[in-house]
Amino acid sequence: MGPNQIEFGRLVEYGPGGNSSILQVPNHNYVDTNNVDGTTTDSAAAATAMATGYKTHNYVIGKNAWYQSVPTIMELAEAKGYVTGIVVTSPINHATPAGFAAHNDDRNNYAQIATDMADSGIDLLLGGGSSSTYFGTQISNLQARGYAHVTDRAALAGVEALPVLGLFNQDYLTWERDRTDASTEPSLQEMVAKSITLLNASGKPFVLMVEGSQIDTACHSNDKVLLAHEVIEFEKAFKYAASFASNNSNIQLLVCADHETGGFTISGYDFSTPAPQETDSLAVKIQKRTNRANEIATHFLSTSHTSTRVYLGGIGPSTNQILNASHLVDIFQIMNASIDTITNITINTLRITSPGDMVVHESTRGKNISWIITSPNINVPTYAIFKNGSLLQGHENNSWSNNTPVIIDIDPLPPGIFNLTILASDRISVPARDSVIVTVLNDPPAISHPGPLEYEYGSTMQYLAWHVSDPSVSNGSVVIYQDGHCIYSGTWNSTDLVNITMRDLDLGIFNYTVVASDGIATSQDTSFVTVYNRNPTISIQEDVIYEKNGKGNYLSWHIMDNSIAIATFVILQDDIVIMTGNWNAMEPITICIDGLLPGKHHFMIIAIDGLGGTISDSVFVLVQDTTTSGIKEIPLDLGMISMCTGACLVVLSLVLVVFEKKSRVKMYKR
Ligand SMILES: [Zn+2]
Repeated sequence: MGPNQIEFGRLVEYGPGGNSSILQVPNHNYVDTNNVDGTTTDSAAAATAMATGYKTHNYVIGKNAWYQSVPTIMELAEAKGYVTGIVVTSPINHATPAGFAAHNDDRNNYAQIATDMADSGIDLLLGGGSSSTYFGTQISNLQARGYAHVTDRAALAGVEALPVLGLFNQDYLTWERDRTDASTEPSLQEMVAKSITLLNASGKPFVLMVEGSQIDTACHSNDKVLLAHEVIEFEKAFKYAASFASNNSNIQLLVCADHETGGFTISGYDFSTPAPQETDSLAVKIQKRTNRANEIATHFLSTSHTSTRVYLGGIGPSTNQILNASHLVDIFQIMNASIDTITNITINTLRITSPGDMVVHESTRGKNISWIITSPNINVPTYAIFKNGSLLQGHENNSWSNNTPVIIDIDPLPPGIFNLTILASDRISVPARDSVIVTVLNDPPAISHPGPLEYEYGSTMQYLAWHVSDPSVSNGSVVIYQDGHCIYSGTWNSTDLVNITMRDLDLGIFNYTVVASDGIATSQDTSFVTVYNRNPTISIQEDVIYEKNGKGNYLSWHIMDNSIAIATFVILQDDIVIMTGNWNAMEPITICIDGLLPGKHHFMIIAIDGLGGTISDSVFVLVQDTTTSGIKEIPLDLGMISMCTGACLVVLSLVLVVFEKKSRVKMYKR
């Protein structure tokens, strides 16, 4: 209900020269209604602002912007021994009344809100919403707790004491435009009068919240006739309350809207219907109001809420503070100032310890923050923890108890700077908070060191494998260099190894450097690979002795090598090359030595693998001639062997030169 809706009601009911009681108050101002997000409010955020002093998000009921339950003026008053009441023409657990007596993330959770309101201890609840969709599920609960339950105006009139639950429609109450003398629903004015009577008769101080709920509904429909009747009924109800307040100096009465709806404006009027008179029948009053509403030229800009500033007026204690008010949240302060003047209970008794800010390395385990919350006024102890303003999972709305630390594990935090804030409530005190700034320093990834790797030239399936891991990330980028040249660029992950298979490496020593990144920092490992050559192996041929002209004598060698490049051999007999060729591991090299002259013969085989690896074997063959007397067996002489070998090596080097020139195959690739 914006200022123009109030003015519209005044024109219809009293005419241009008449007064609206809403505007006839000692103190008034205009206040903003925007929600905490700086956008146009809904009824939930607006009611929460008025009832708790906290701006919040749309849809949120009785909780601040961090979804933390905060005490409502009703709860604060109840804690001080007040009796409380709510009167509306909407369902009793609709957003506005809910904002004064419930705590929920979403105004549409009617069942939870109904439970919350039933448990809130509000002593008087009058309105609509008796269906099970709204408050119907709680009727029997409240009856069991001693509430009088009434469903029509006659029964309400007969109620003599609190507590009372009056639900007069399954949904919203009937439009005032449609009221007749036979209507069974009480009017807003009747409900307010009865409420003030019952609350005042309790002998205790009281807080009553009244909403003319359907002013908003009429504006959503852009229906100025419905609007006129609802505004006028609200004004009549306020007039009654103002009269009561004017006669009781300790009564604070505030009137305000939660927001404007429709962007409603008035551009002129031309009345031909006279204003309603007290002496008119109900039917005549209603007809006159309808006619006069239609005789005013109006315009709606939208069917939604607007951010138009709304009127705030007041009578009684602390209402001079209205002059300093600028937002709906100030209404809470004005009401709270009023109830504080009556009792001396301090509500700022909730305490949270304040651990210092922390700087930690991400790889250091076992880090946590520990807060201790204490309060002598525990009603509903809840806390929530926020990480950089967002609720931390698992800490949304937990319970706490005095002197039991609330501990959060900060090990899962990745590198960065985090604001960890705890908000605690006992639902009576002003909520308390503490913030800890945690700086998590990045540690670079850890890389395993697989080297050194050494293998024989020609071996296959040789590889280096690195394991990369990091405390905060499970993968990242990796680059591998061989002797400074990039040979691989890709990613690592903590469950697999980063592999490099050695392909056709030449003989030599190679360095492989892995550089792994976690997105912030890098680390590296250098491992060495040595490719070596091993000489061929050769079977040992035993020395041979045979009789002159003996048959079937031979020498045989079996040569093997793991890394054959060019497999050649040369056989020398008494330092003379008698045979050259290629060898392979599958077949032995065999030469026949029949027919040698009697005497001692020296045979040598030299095998070459083409990579600088050689092997040789030296054999003596003694051919005996036992038919010739006087010739003795010539003993094998070591001195001779070494001389012979020395000579052979000279020959060998010549042979190698020949082979080098013949064909140098491409042995490796990068
Ligand atoms: Zn609305």
